[in-house]
Amino acid sequence: MRLRNIPASRGAIEQSEYVVKEPGTYQGKWHDEFPDGMQNAPIMLEIGMGKGRFLLDISEKNPENIYIGMEYQSSVLYRALQKLEKSPRNNVLLMREDAVRLCEFFDEGELDGIYLNFSDPWPKERHEKRRLTSGNFLSIYKKVLKPGGFVEFKTDNRALFDFSVASVNSDGWEITELSYDLHGNERLSRNNILTEYEEKFSAEGHPICNLVAKRP
Ligand code: SAH
Repeated sequence: MRLRNIPASRGAIEQSEYVVKEPGTYQGKWHDEFPDGMQNAPIMLEIGMGKGRFLLDISEKNPENIYIGMEYQSSVLYRALQKLEKSPRNNVLLMREDAVRLCEFFDEGELDGIYLNFSDPWPKERHEKRRLTSGNFLSIYKKVLKPGGFVEFKTDNRALFDFSVASVNSDGWEITELSYDLHGNERLSRNNILTEYEEKFSAEGHPICNLVAKRP
């Protein structure tokens, strides 16, 4: 996702209470940032949340869970922040960071689930390690996810999807949900929460692939 640089975005991000400034200092202590009643709440992370539609909708539907949105582009994160400020809630925080640094921000087993929606495909073979479902990232997720924790991945990109299925399989993850046409599956689509890209690509006629895998 590319957006023109928005000069106001950096200042707004720095000033907002929704955006964590030094996420490393929260490692192992994320629950302290949320209301008292949420001290045992499951913590879910969305990596590359873009303009935040999915994060806003899922956090509204599940107020008992904590949701953290990670996005490394300021101009994109700013869009999510604007939505959040219009529709405030106490179970969401954002961070402008790169997922390669996940282990600096979360303790072992601190997360219950990770959402990857329409991640960048990095089609060149030499960029394979940058794909968010590469073995490289799966080893990171295995550390920060608790036993039984999951990764949920959606994309319209069949090549990236096939790569991702092979990647979780070869790393020993248990696939609990697999669909090559999420919107055509009545059971799965009933509870599906749309992302910005998902709405756009499915309207263009692209089938949406979906994968849920449990940590080995
Ligand atoms: N999830 C949104 C946006 C998908 S585009 C949707 O489905 O509509 C992918 C987004 O992931 C981009 O905004 C990009 O900046 C972000 N991203 C890609 N790699 C990332 C990484 N390593 N860390 C954080 N964000 C990343």
